[in-house]
Amino acid sequence: MTIDFNELCNSHWDTEQWNDIYKNIYINTDKVLNYGIKELFKNPNLTINFKIDTEEKYFKKDEINAFAKIYDEENYSIVLSKKLIQLLSHFSRKIIDYEFIFSHIKRVEENRQILMELADFAFYIWIQSIFFHEFAHIVRGHLATNYRKSRIKTWYEISNYEVNKKLKKEYIKSLEADADKWGSTFMLGNAYLILEEMFKKHYKNQNEEDYLYDYILTIVLMYDLFERLEHKVREEFNESDFDHPHPEYRALISLLILGEDHLQNKVFTSIDSQKKMSIAMRAIQTYFLEFRQFSNTRYSKQMLGWVNFINKTRKILEKHKINKKTLFKKKDIV
Ligand SMILES: [Zn+2]
Repeated sequence: MTIDFNELCNSHWDTEQWNDIYKNIYINTDKVLNYGIKELFKNPNLTINFKIDTEEKYFKKDEINAFAKIYDEENYSIVLSKKLIQLLSHFSRKIIDYEFIFSHIKRVEENRQILMELADFAFYIWIQSIFFHEFAHIVRGHLATNYRKSRIKTWYEISNYEVNKKLKKEYIKSLEADADKWGSTFMLGNAYLILEEMFKKHYKNQNEEDYLYDYILTIVLMYDLFERLEHKVREEFNESDFDHPHPEYRALISLLILGEDHLQNKVFTSIDSQKKMSIAMRAIQTYFLEFRQFSNTRYSKQMLGWVNFINKTRKILEKHKINKKTLFKKKDIV
């Protein structure tokens, strides 16, 4: 089975449920922006607005995109396009047809409802990940730094033309990696209770390792979708290099945080850090062999660049003093 990516991007799904879905997303983000943020930053003036562009004011019709924007150093917004949300919803309904994910649920008709609930789970995980990724661009000081340096106000996730003209590709990629890392930290700190509830409901006779494994696959599939979107845009404009790291790198960056002290005691507590990394590698291998249909040799080759990428990213972030401009103190996190 393969997913026809173009068909997925072009499909329309009329449902009365969109308004409820948007409402749920607003409720989740509101908790972070109106309550969490005040605790975390101890700056009552810091304002981040969140919006889903249902009226197509910020994006072209059917544009699949998201951005974070700076107005001044205390005022920001995050906007997701309507089509991005719809695409993720369609995609979540496609991935449940693969037996390699949520594999403890037998693919029989009577389990369809459970699989649909797991699709919803994947969908909300993805939306949260994107929201926290944008949030991380803001609170890690990426936008403030770039605005001061290059007058860039808006940081688009796909087709970031203004940024591409002004900044070096490896610097852009490093910021994306940093947003993945911190986005995941915020997300796991904030959303783990919801994840745990889902685990208890649908993984009754399984252990936490199976759950972590599916969680990682869910995340890497989202990054895969994003790489395909980027690829589509690059082809149109004849560019070869990407703004974001590869999906497997992004998944690993998001997972390295699981070993950090402030999260270690809060999430997936029954699994030690070493085991977490081996589950991550197993999930990423499944992604390559089952979803991308890579051979074992090609998979091993693909993973070779990982350590180099991490070292390079760290150096670039240090050079640009990104760690020093963050809008929060690390000890205050989760
Ligand atoms: Zn980004």
